[in-house]
Amino acid sequence: MLLPESIQTLINALERLPGIGPKSASRLAFFFLRATEDVAQDLASALANLKANIVLCQECFNITEAGRERCEVCESSQRDGSLVCVVEEALDVLALERTGGYQGKYHVLQGVLSPIEGIGPDDLKIKQLVARVAAGEIKEVILATNPSMEGDATAQYLQGKLKQFDIHVTRLARGLPMGGDLEYADQNTLLRALSGRQEMS
Ligand SMILES: [Zn+2]
Repeated sequence: MLLPESIQTLINALERLPGIGPKSASRLAFFFLRATEDVAQDLASALANLKANIVLCQECFNITEAGRERCEVCESSQRDGSLVCVVEEALDVLALERTGGYQGKYHVLQGVLSPIEGIGPDDLKIKQLVARVAAGEIKEVILATNPSMEGDATAQYLQGKLKQFDIHVTRLARGLPMGGDLEYADQNTLLRALSGRQEMS
């Protein structure tokens, strides 16, 4: 081994991050080596506290600070509880919030159906969504899973589950790049997809 073990261990850990290849991992590791002690300490403590300080909202399963039962969106009296936007993950909530054009609430599935990865309906927050709709306040569910094969299949599955209720089930308009992620869409594209949403049939 050419590198001291503690640097190699850090490089190995960094390489497991999304979008980080061996070169970037080495560059980052050497950056920490050169940087002042507090740079590494801040990152280490933020990482160590992350899991302990974040919980899922009991209503919509968005992430929120530990100790809270419901997230800010669910707590807010300004939000329209008759409208629920179903997304794959908390990052999608962030993307939609950034547009400033959505006043409803959310439901975060915590993933998508993926037979290949062995993710079925019971692994997602689908039962919880059906229960929310059954409670009666919701008039429209917007299915905003990503425009990918898994996202579309998940939307179809959800539509089947929600058919039994007298509500509108809509899907974000086309225009989002196929295979793309909601979180990477620019705000205008996302707003257009939202306002052009169509009833699923
Ligand atoms: Zn919530």
